Amino acid sequence: MDKEKKTIKRREFFKGSIAATAALTIFGASTFVLDRKAAEAMPREDFLRPPGAIDEENFLYGCIKCGLCVQICPVQAISLAGAGEGLGFGTPYIEPRLQPCDFSCDALQCVEVCPTAVLDFKPFKKVGANAVEKAAAQPGVDLSQVNPFEVQKVAMKEAVQMGKAHVNKNTCLAHQEEGFRGTPRGSDFKGVHRSPGKNEISASPLRDRTFDREICDLCITECPIGEKAIVQKLSRSGKLVPHVMDGCTGCGVCQMVCPTQQPSIIVEPF
Ligand code: SF4
Ligand code: SF4
Ligand code: SF4
Repeated sequence: MDKEKKTIKRREFFKGSIAATAALTIFGASTFVLDRKAAEAMPREDFLRPPGAIDEENFLYGCIKCGLCVQICPVQAISLAGAGEGLGFGTPYIEPRLQPCDFSCDALQCVEVCPTAVLDFKPFKKVGANAVEKAAAQPGVDLSQVNPFEVQKVAMKEAVQMGKAHVNKNTCLAHQEEGFRGTPRGSDFKGVHRSPGKNEISASPLRDRTFDREICDLCITECPIGEKAIVQKLSRSGKLVPHVMDGCTGCGVCQMVCPTQQPSIIVEPF
């Protein structure tokens, strides 16, 4: 796909460009203003900011382009934007069709490591603490069976709001009552994927996985959030189709695994 080739090239060129980022930081405020104008003038397409990003305007001012979020991500989901990408040169973004955040770090490490809090950990910390308190307060709960770290991790992950997935009924295989058999993105695809239910060090190349589904449901079964985010539902015309729920985090795993040539499920950033 042309767009993919273009974006992969762009990604390779700018990925890990910490030196360029540092230089840019030194050039300072005037560059920020120029970047911001460029960012406002260009479409964001389906690019996502990493989890916990504050509002876009303040994000563009506050991100110091240090690249720590890029470095810590175990699946290398985060890249730094190049000139003319419409996102502010040097600021981090995720291109989910190539490599989504599949929560492989298990603890929102990009958010925790951000020195300026433009990826803001405070709300997640609160959500995690509340979830642990609630779990411990359940009547008759055996506290020795409650793993606070697990409870906290799940709650924090579910609190992510990068965007929301939307299904294109015209191309979605399930909407055409078609199945899928094979490797969803082909043997050359470089993206990795942590299967739901597997531990945090289990992400493996998607090209090594094969699926055999009578009716396609990859976006549903591979979603790291599960039924709070996406379910299979009977449509009015009696077809079993994906239905995105309010708990969708916008992580974009569904967008990566969707086997149609252009993804039939796309995350729209918030
Ligand atoms: S860690 Fe924070 S300040 Fe550094 S590049 Fe990422 S978002 Fe920007
Ligand atoms: S993975 Fe794609 S084609 Fe398959 S059901 Fe989901 S949106 Fe439709
Ligand atoms: S439906 Fe699931 S996989 Fe798709 S963006 Fe939402 S949370 Fe992520």
